[in-house]
Amino acid sequence: MTGTIRAHTFKPRDLVGGHIVIDLVNTVTARDAEPIDWLDGYPRLLEWAALTGQFDAAALTDLQRLAEAEPCRAAPALDRTRELREALHDLITALLHQDAPTPATAVDQVEDHWKHAVARARLTVRGNTPQLRVGVETSGLEYLNHELALQAFDLLRALPLERTRICPGLRCGWVFIDSSRAGRRRWCSMATCGNASKGRTHYQRNRQATSRQGRHQPPDDQ
Ligand SMILES: [Zn+2]
Repeated sequence: MTGTIRAHTFKPRDLVGGHIVIDLVNTVTARDAEPIDWLDGYPRLLEWAALTGQFDAAALTDLQRLAEAEPCRAAPALDRTRELREALHDLITALLHQDAPTPATAVDQVEDHWKHAVARARLTVRGNTPQLRVGVETSGLEYLNHELALQAFDLLRALPLERTRICPGLRCGWVFIDSSRAGRRRWCSMATCGNASKGRTHYQRNRQATSRQGRHQPPDDQ
């Protein structure tokens, strides 16, 4: 991705992708214009991870301590997050445009991340469900990358293509899974892109109506 890195305080409205891996992809906004990367540092990644509610708070505290103790290791760990994120974006969007060529570099990168994650993972069985699990104790500052890479593989194998969309909102480009009953969700969020579009349509209609009226009205000085 070529774009700007900008500080951003993550809010629940930033998590509309329907899957944590897609929400990671959506930590870049305005992909349809000039992309803006909201992950401006490792602490921001931790802030985002906490907001998702999918990570143990104690693990995130451990990561924060590690990052403060070894910032020179935290920076490359964040670079790896960005690399995984961009590879996933390229791969998912190529899957959505089914006639697009498979992005070989992105596939190689996702594979590389997944292999690193699996190398640090343990196979555990909870109930009747075997799971690959990673932790801070084995992955260190790469813990989030490893967890996200494992989840990305699960998502990619079962990605509901007919329900996965790219928001057409101006300066958006977010990806989301439409889990609505009717399957007609168009926007990442009605509160943001949906309302902005309605506002533009309303403005354009008013302008057209005004200009039509203008053509039929005699000039004021006659
Ligand atoms: Zn949008």
